[in-house]
Amino acid sequence: MKPSTGHCIFCDLIRGAAEVSICYEDATAIAFLDIQPVNPGHVLVVPREHYEVLQDIPGDVGAHLYQVATKLIPVVQTAAGATDMNIVVNSGAAAGQNVMHYHIHLIPRKAGDGFDVPLPFPGSPMPHRQQLDAMAARIGGMLRDPLRSGGKKNG
Ligand code: AMP
Ligand code: ZN
Repeated sequence: MKPSTGHCIFCDLIRGAAEVSICYEDATAIAFLDIQPVNPGHVLVVPREHYEVLQDIPGDVGAHLYQVATKLIPVVQTAAGATDMNIVVNSGAAAGQNVMHYHIHLIPRKAGDGFDVPLPFPGSPMPHRQQLDAMAARIGGMLRDPLRSGGKKNG
């Protein structure tokens, strides 16, 4: 486990040091209501241990978080009276992660609710196929050669 660098509000919630509305918990994961929900029923699925990003998390824990999310999605959707769901992870500060304790957002959605995750991003160019192929080959090459990838292999 990567120790928390500095204060972590989610670690506080998990050890019971602050108010939290828990909708699911087990030995590895906890899910609670976001304090400032995009829509009613906005839930965060969180590992009990402090990890910042998915690649820091042991493989079995990461898989478990997604099993919990998968179990919660239809229930949260129904409880919130929503028809659809955005499943969002902001990974790293530049990607908009504000709480540096890994979490999966489950955001219930209804038509016309005013929220949006605009993809494709308006105005983004469509690269030539050669550029897409080159990036795919670069990523594939790095996966085959861990020394070049800088990544870690999760168990
Ligand atoms: P992110 O920007 O992906 O790191 O999202 C952090 C989320 O945590 C935001 O949606 C916040 O509203 C939520 N949040 C921050 N503090 C709390 C808290 N004390 N209890 C519940 N949710 C929180
Ligand atoms: Zn934490």
